Amino acid sequence: MAKPSKEQVILLSELRDFVINVMLDMPQWVDADVESLRLVPLGVLRRNATQRHGVTRWKRGVDLRNLLPKDVEIIDLHPKLLDSNWKAYSAFVLHHEYIHALGLRAHNTLFRKLESAWPGRSASTHGTQFTEHLRREKAVWLWCCPDCNREFPRQKPSRKKYKCRECNTTLIDKKNPHLVVT
Ligand SMILES: [Zn+2]
Ligand SMILES: [Zn+2]
Repeated sequence: MAKPSKEQVILLSELRDFVINVMLDMPQWVDADVESLRLVPLGVLRRNATQRHGVTRWKRGVDLRNLLPKDVEIIDLHPKLLDSNWKAYSAFVLHHEYIHALGLRAHNTLFRKLESAWPGRSASTHGTQFTEHLRREKAVWLWCCPDCNREFPRQKPSRKKYKCRECNTTLIDKKNPHLVVT
């Protein structure tokens, strides 16, 4: 958890309004108290988080069998989701967290059904690309195939121990020019 900057606060509130307005038009949510989601505080995850794109944190001592938006302490999103390139995916992630906030804790069949009702269709592909993007920014090394030019971002050098799966050529190590030092 990190404190959002002024700019992040603005972007988070724009995203919140967008997602809630779409939800108000979704037949899946007609009986849900979507408006109460406006009261759920939004924050950002630490910049170097890679595994999680969003998280719903519950207040202490809440009734886990009957969760409501008022029981949410905060929803944190990955700060990189606020970059304009990830706008579509950020809406999908916030909708995912809002499903939790409306009382569905587990990723069960009902949850997945509601999640896939979000009008953005290729959201799961975006999720994989976002993970890859974060991994690439953090990677110190790129393992490169000299034949097909594929690059595999990694924390450690390959030291000539790995081959390209496609070409069977030994991979070579390059320093990652995308590395972001935070
Ligand atoms: Zn979840
Ligand atoms: Zn190759």
